[in-house]
Amino acid sequence: MTGTVRDAMAGPAPAEDGPDLVVAGAGGGLAGALRAAEQGLSVVVVEASEHFRRGNNTSMSTAMFPGAGSRWQAEAGVGDSAERFVDDIMAKTGGRADPRLARTLAGVSAPLVEWLADSVELPLSLVTDFNYPGHAVPRCHSVPGRHGSSVLDHLVRRVREHPLIDLLVPARLVDVATGPDGAVRAAVVRYPDGGEEEIPTRAVLLATNGFGADRELVGRHLPEIAGALYQGGDQSLGDALRIGERLGAATGFLDAYQGHGAIAANAGTLVGWATIIHGAVLVDLGGRRFGDETRGYSEYAAELAARPGGTGWIVLDEVIFEQCQPFQDFRDTVESGVLVWADDAAGLAEATGLPAAALAAELADAAAVARGERPDEHGRANWERPLSGRYAAVRVLPALFHTQGGLMVDEHAAVVDPGDRRIPGLYAAGGAAAGVSGHGAAGYLPGNGLLPAFGLAYLAADDVARRAAGRAGPAAPAPVH
Ligand SMILES: Cc1cc2nc3c(=O)[nH]c(=O)nc-3n(C[C@H](O)[C@H](O)[C@H](O)COP(=O)(O)OP(=O)(O)OC[C@H]3O[C@@H](n4cnc5c(N)ncnc54)[C@H](O)[C@@H]3O)c2cc1C
Repeated sequence: MTGTVRDAMAGPAPAEDGPDLVVAGAGGGLAGALRAAEQGLSVVVVEASEHFRRGNNTSMSTAMFPGAGSRWQAEAGVGDSAERFVDDIMAKTGGRADPRLARTLAGVSAPLVEWLADSVELPLSLVTDFNYPGHAVPRCHSVPGRHGSSVLDHLVRRVREHPLIDLLVPARLVDVATGPDGAVRAAVVRYPDGGEEEIPTRAVLLATNGFGADRELVGRHLPEIAGALYQGGDQSLGDALRIGERLGAATGFLDAYQGHGAIAANAGTLVGWATIIHGAVLVDLGGRRFGDETRGYSEYAAELAARPGGTGWIVLDEVIFEQCQPFQDFRDTVESGVLVWADDAAGLAEATGLPAAALAAELADAAAVARGERPDEHGRANWERPLSGRYAAVRVLPALFHTQGGLMVDEHAAVVDPGDRRIPGLYAAGGAAAGVSGHGAAGYLPGNGLLPAFGLAYLAADDVARRAAGRAGPAAPAPVH
């Protein structure tokens, strides 16, 4: 296949005439397209939204990719391994993550970041200036600016340049057709004029994200966060779930999600949890802290939503302000003008409208705890340093970022039925698949979004390539990772 949109009336054709792989969704799915194409497979990517480059979750992300045992870690003297990462996943989820998937994703995490750097030429490096809660060691890799939009722009450029990949936009996957043997035989795609096309293929990768934009599904599966802001892609409508379920796929972890407790009110930008890791505190409208903020930003969404008014303030200082400058999201927040500054607690109370006595007492308590003078009543042990000098504060809202439950997949990202049998040719990645965050919000470890999105897409591509090579004869080399 060459060019862009094929004849919408072409009708069904044998798989041999179509691409080796159809990828639905141009977020993490693009990694699968590139991985498949570099092994000589022809790929069609169908993407539902014209605005995907600034509208999907990959483009909105903070671009943190965990890679356990990566060469950047080795260079930095950080001892890490897939086993250690699995331990962290299990600790964060209380042992409730799917063990096979946890092993699979931890195992592919370092090969993935190295492939993204070496083959896709994404300028990744290890983030060493702070460590996210739940990761025993610095393990997240990111790009300059730490923003997913530059990651996605880069991938789109590479995809458009690749002679074996066609990117069809806007084109929505509405179904996957299977043959009498239950194996995938075509991707059914709908164009904006209502025309539908069956693209014959033996393999479809569902990379259409989860169901965060479907209020009914969110209300049913994630009631604790259903009333909060939704800060993810507007096309996360549960398409993969519906298509997979129709084909008999098993689903799981539908109550799992990534929340975030730090969206700047009145700006809609991400303040970021690096503020907290560097020593900031989060107080409610009563001026008091209400938990150990360093447990994680995901669980803090529902906890903040449950406070009076469903909002609070992150209080930081000038040092933290400087430490957060590497984040494009933080700089955007600052530029939007929503930070308030004050010389002391009384001034901060005036600037924020928080009760003065309570806020002053809380800031004094937090400083004493951070200096090690007494234990924190909420159990927070992670204090880089006490706040000092001028204070800054920003009002924050809780949000749902994306859902973490979906179609169950095996170690090759192949979708399985309730008996753990493959639906031949059907793959899922990212929000379309079940993730490794266990249940609820508290199991989410930073990186649990992009790793399944890119890692499962990568593994699916390898599996499709292996199977294509098997059909072609024994000489083709197996991909190495
Ligand atoms: C603000 C923010 C920050 C984040 N930061 C991080 C981070 O640092 N690290 C991390 O691991 N995770 C992070 N996440 C989560 C992460 O962004 C997502 O988990 C990940 O990007 C999901 O990738 P995806 O490919 O599944 O979905 P997406 O990137 O959303 O891509 C899915 C694509 O499928 C398209 N689509 C939908 N339905 C169809 C259909 N039927 N046919 C064709 N196309 C369709 C959509 O338009 C979309 O372009 C963050 C999320 C947010 C919102």
